[in-house]
Amino acid sequence: MTESRNISRLVRKNILEMKPYSSARDEFSGSASVFLDANENPFNSPLNRYPDPHQVRLKQRIAELRGLRVEQVFLGNGSDEGIDVLFRVLCEPGRDHVITVDPTYGMYAVCAEINGVERRSVLLNSDFSLDPEAVLAAVDEHTRLIFLCSPNNPTSNSYDRASVLKILDGVDCMVVVDEAYIDFSRDPGFLSLLNETTNLVVLQTLSKAWGLAGIRLGMLFAHPQLVEYLSRVKYPYNVNELTIKAAIEALDDTARTKKWVNQILNERSSMAKQLESLAFVRQVFASDANFLLIRVDDPAALYQFLMNRGIIIRDRSRVPLCEGCLRITIGSREENTELIKALKNFQS
Ligand SMILES: *Cc1c(COP(=O)(O)O)cnc(C)c1O
Repeated sequence: MTESRNISRLVRKNILEMKPYSSARDEFSGSASVFLDANENPFNSPLNRYPDPHQVRLKQRIAELRGLRVEQVFLGNGSDEGIDVLFRVLCEPGRDHVITVDPTYGMYAVCAEINGVERRSVLLNSDFSLDPEAVLAAVDEHTRLIFLCSPNNPTSNSYDRASVLKILDGVDCMVVVDEAYIDFSRDPGFLSLLNETTNLVVLQTLSKAWGLAGIRLGMLFAHPQLVEYLSRVKYPYNVNELTIKAAIEALDDTARTKKWVNQILNERSSMAKQLESLAFVRQVFASDANFLLIRVDDPAALYQFLMNRGIIIRDRSRVPLCEGCLRITIGSREENTELIKALKNFQS
């Protein structure tokens, strides 16, 4: 898809026709020193003021960091908001549908259900690789979104680049590549294609590598025209002042994030080796993320055993293609050591 006018073609009629909410601060752009326009309280500065509805300063910082233009950036209350707003802008309930490639992140299915939008599920191959032909075969004129999570949660692998490109080139709808774990991967990701590809949406987040799951900041990168439609639909003040402030501070310290990522990657390889040496562990899947997926003889018993010792992991054994599988986040050295110590006492 190359022409930008195609984006409006994918947008729901009510969104094309709506008049967006205009806040007091939207109507005045200039500098002023007396603010009597928004019914704010004059006391308790600075949190008495509504935050910037367009998050301009934060977007500038993020655009700079990612080598993009501000108009290509949409910010939300976590990636989850970006996902939900995509549904609300693009998918007409009862008519349109989305495609997920399973097993994958659960929010795509939840948002589809909440929005009353059909979801077609295509399975990964049994080695967790992407089957582009199977995805393309599920596409028709009412497909609006295809979700590709790479590196994928819970399978921990990145998808083959050529397979993703084949899907991007083969469809007119939006292809969402969720890169929540990209900082832990050797894969460069797909942001570099954004300037030449109209139907690509890339999701990233401060929740993982940046260590800021608590502030809720998700980044969505897309064609400026799509970003504009998404911005119409979001709540006016969807990113709060405390989050904006914390995010700007964190983004100024990229060295700290790099250091954390390196530590987590070192722990990941050490954990993989230690897990492989346990008799009841049948497989440790190669990971491009900050977690490991392992296949064990008796996942339910192991999950319960750890739970009884105050160690919580994620049971993924009832997920398609993940029979016998558990997902383990890479923690601090101390947490990881405690897990391995407990596992050595498990008799399957
Ligand atoms: C953790 C995760 C996210 C992050 O979501 P936030 O709402 O930004 O915290 C997004 N996508 C996937 C696949 C994840 O696993």
